[in-house]
Amino acid sequence: MASFFTRKLLDWNRGMNDRQMPWKGEKDPYRIWISEIILQQTRVEQGWAYYERFIASFPDIQALATAPDEEIFKHWEGLGYYSRCRNLIFTARQIHVERKGMFPKTYPEIAALKGIGPYTAAAIASFAFGLPYAVVDGNVIRVISRVFGIDAPADQPASRKLFTEKAQMLLDVRHPAEYNQAIMDFGATICKPQSPRCSVCPFQSDCQAYAFGRIAELPVKSKKIQKKKRFLHYLILEYNGQLFIRKRTARDIWQQLFEFHLIEADRLLETRELLDLPEVRAIVHPHSFELIMVSGARRQLLSHQELQGGFFHLKLNHPPSLPTGYQPVSRERLRDAAFPRFILSYLEENAYFQSAEVQSFNEKGEVS
Ligand code: SF4
Repeated sequence: MASFFTRKLLDWNRGMNDRQMPWKGEKDPYRIWISEIILQQTRVEQGWAYYERFIASFPDIQALATAPDEEIFKHWEGLGYYSRCRNLIFTARQIHVERKGMFPKTYPEIAALKGIGPYTAAAIASFAFGLPYAVVDGNVIRVISRVFGIDAPADQPASRKLFTEKAQMLLDVRHPAEYNQAIMDFGATICKPQSPRCSVCPFQSDCQAYAFGRIAELPVKSKKIQKKKRFLHYLILEYNGQLFIRKRTARDIWQQLFEFHLIEADRLLETRELLDLPEVRAIVHPHSFELIMVSGARRQLLSHQELQGGFFHLKLNHPPSLPTGYQPVSRERLRDAAFPRFILSYLEENAYFQSAEVQSFNEKGEVS
């Protein structure tokens, strides 16, 4: 017999839940997979347009598996957490080659795919195939922790196991897809992290957090993530109407995306300090350039890093002496390279992208 929780949640879902999302009710495992990967670390409002563009360009596994990396990354540009995109490409090609394009249909097989963790596997298994696996994400943990007054730290593996077992117990095994969607929608729209809507909540009379005034402290987090600070100074080098970019290949943030010449330091540098660095002098001769633009200090927070930095646009009289890997690209064609949001937002705000003819980058990342 269903618990009070499950009954009330499904009643709320059938009578009150009006949350709309383009992938809701979707049964195609490929589309569910794409939507879930986009939504990891991304708000629904932001992910919505990306999802629609992605599906329009790559409507099935085959289309994604056979598309060039550059084209796929271009569709991901600005979403962040680019390892998600690399894993998507890897997994699409694996399914295309090893499984003739057929998405696996069991939970263990789905969970074994690269880039798919327990949450995404449960979402695909329940939404596409009606399998009884409960999703456990931040929304689910928050709702369960508050309603049942569970104060195990949600960010520790042992507690994660506890929340997973509880979620699995509460799951309506006859309607796993509906139940999973309902609890995620409930967490996103009613039992929100800040200012939950307790006055319209069907659990108000049952909720332990509400009864004991513990809403703000549940779910408990045991540790605050210490973000590593990084200071990025980008030299936008322009010679003869061409800007110099390269693809990041190291195992670091933004792998496979493009950038300008980067000087990383242990603090933010003044313009004069930066231009006097031996490293910069080795690239551009001190008297052979004009500094035409310096951005203010900019900042972006990633999950484990805090980025600060700026952009310095130098117009050169001589070609720069850059290490290998750089390629010249005109402003008109700059738009075709995929940049991380830190760079992309600066370029957009400063009108670097002019009307561009369509141009592609080949597999090595060179302009063709
Ligand atoms: S009463 Fe408030 S805190 Fe409790 S489940 Fe409902 S919305 Fe969340």
